[in-house]
Amino acid sequence: MKSIYLDNSATTYTDPEVLQEMLPYFTEVFGNASSQHSFGREALKAVDKARGQVAKAIGCNPNEVYFTSGGTESDNWAIKGIALAHQKKGKHIITSRIEHPAVIKTCQALEKQGFEVTYLDVDNEGLISLDELEKSIREDTILISVMTANNEVGTIEPIRKIGEIAHKHGVLFHTDAVQAIGNVPIDVVKDNIDLLSMSGHKFYGPKGVGVLYKRNGLRIGRFMDGGEQERNMRASTINTPAIVGLGKAIENAVNNMDKNNKHVAEVRDYFVKEVQSKIKDIYFNGPKDMSKRLPSNANFSFEYIEGESILMLLDMAGIAVSSGSACSSGSLEPSYVLLSIGVPIEVAHGSIRFSFGKNNTLEEAKYTVDKLVETVDRLREMSPLFKEIKGDKKYV
Ligand SMILES: *Cc1c(COP(=O)(O)O)cnc(C)c1O
Repeated sequence: MKSIYLDNSATTYTDPEVLQEMLPYFTEVFGNASSQHSFGREALKAVDKARGQVAKAIGCNPNEVYFTSGGTESDNWAIKGIALAHQKKGKHIITSRIEHPAVIKTCQALEKQGFEVTYLDVDNEGLISLDELEKSIREDTILISVMTANNEVGTIEPIRKIGEIAHKHGVLFHTDAVQAIGNVPIDVVKDNIDLLSMSGHKFYGPKGVGVLYKRNGLRIGRFMDGGEQERNMRASTINTPAIVGLGKAIENAVNNMDKNNKHVAEVRDYFVKEVQSKIKDIYFNGPKDMSKRLPSNANFSFEYIEGESILMLLDMAGIAVSSGSACSSGSLEPSYVLLSIGVPIEVAHGSIRFSFGKNNTLEEAKYTVDKLVETVDRLREMSPLFKEIKGDKKYV
């Protein structure tokens, strides 16, 4: 049976080339990067190289790069760290309704501790309103956190302008760029970014490693107490192999961004056109203008049927996709991102995210369309709701 992976927004494979770079740091150069002997110094050298690779990729200074355990930790640290360090100035934070749970739940945790959070609405393509953003800034606003690109519907937010507005009002700007690295060019200086989160496993690096970029001179609370690693800001023994992998992966991602984006968008665009021409009663969620969404993302709602059932039947055909976000799958609640962009609740239940990667082919897209047509047809034939509305006629 074929095996087709279309869930690259949930995670990507680790590039074999990246893995090769990592391997010596498990068994040969295994020293603690904080140790002063040659084993430690060798490890530190590799970590410093990776720090430089990250810095080059986003246009910052190497000493503004802090390695973490992933995107979730970086988001938590950025938001809680700023809240802790700047609460004397104010306790108001602005974010959007369509952030990843790592941001939304962090904000909710802070609300329980006396902070106030404004969750900006988005339009039906997932874009925040810059006007609304500016109007919601108050005397006591300390932080704006808006993602660079959304993980479910692929919307790319106008981060440069968001940063500009933030700075005009003396407010800090954090962006969750986990989905954007390798897909969207980012320059933290030009884009007015004070803090940025990324995660290795979303751009063909290993899992369990991420970065928080923090502008120099910006006060932030420590997130992990303990040893003096990462310039005394993030305790815990440095994960040398993973960091080496992240460094190599981001270098590749940025160097090959145009080439990869072109290929991925070509496969995705073909897929979207085919689905739209072959299946009726569907919603194409997220920006209709493809230049405003991640090249990898296609998100559809199929009326009258359940996303979970589509996912299971596609899985049986060897095709891996996601219904809503990985984090909300398993629960019966439809995705809050889809509801926020105005997808009706009963339609949102029938949603699937297809996220393409650099190794997916047109043949795979074609096979997936065929299986999807069959699947939707079969499920609609069994759907009482569909029968009630459309009668017994065959209908895809
Ligand atoms: C995957 C993801 C995260 C979480 O990153 P982890 O490294 O898995 O913790 C955060 N934000 C967005 C937008 C993501 O897609």
